[in-house]
Amino acid sequence: MRRTVVLLGPPASGKGTQAARFSRAHDFLHFDMGGALREAAAGDSPLAEEIRSYTDAGHLVPDEVVRRLIELMFAANRERDIILDGFPRSMEQAELLEHAMSEAGRELTAAVLIGLPEEEIAIRILNRRVCPVCGKAYNLVTMPPKSDEKCDDDGYPLEHRADDTEEVLKERLAVYKEKTRPIIAHYEAVGVLARVDGTAGVNDVGEQIEKVVLDS
Ligand SMILES: [Zn+2]
Repeated sequence: MRRTVVLLGPPASGKGTQAARFSRAHDFLHFDMGGALREAAAGDSPLAEEIRSYTDAGHLVPDEVVRRLIELMFAANRERDIILDGFPRSMEQAELLEHAMSEAGRELTAAVLIGLPEEEIAIRILNRRVCPVCGKAYNLVTMPPKSDEKCDDDGYPLEHRADDTEEVLKERLAVYKEKTRPIIAHYEAVGVLARVDGTAGVNDVGEQIEKVVLDS
């Protein structure tokens, strides 16, 4: 049976980076829900129009639409191993994923949680800076520019993203905890949860994920 893997983690845990990296190295399909929604919304199908009707109004896309995207993705990738990133985000979505997997003849092989203490999340997010010209991302603590808050490539002063504030972070963390804890408990109860240490460097976290997924 093909592998189906879920990658979970708080904001700034590097989920997206790790999923992209893992999928390239091991020929897994990297399914990123945010990207899939943007892609699906870009066409001129009835589904695209429906998605835009929510996103243009600033609303979250309902789970019914998410379910259709997941089903289309499984149907189009029967022969592939898949790693999901940014999904599920709630217990309801975990349930719809389980249903879609069983319809597609798949089972969840591993749910990998990238653990990161809250202080570390705050350090990572509050110190993020970005170059307004080329878009290059920095972190004043973990990946500082060579000279004082200026882009290495073009010398422009780096900017602080407006939503990288303590207040926004607090709220994102509260939502994450409320919605994700039940999912983690559920995956732990069914025996598919594996925890990796997200405080390690990118390569080391990547190796921990490889070990868990390839052994599952
Ligand atoms: Zn730049």
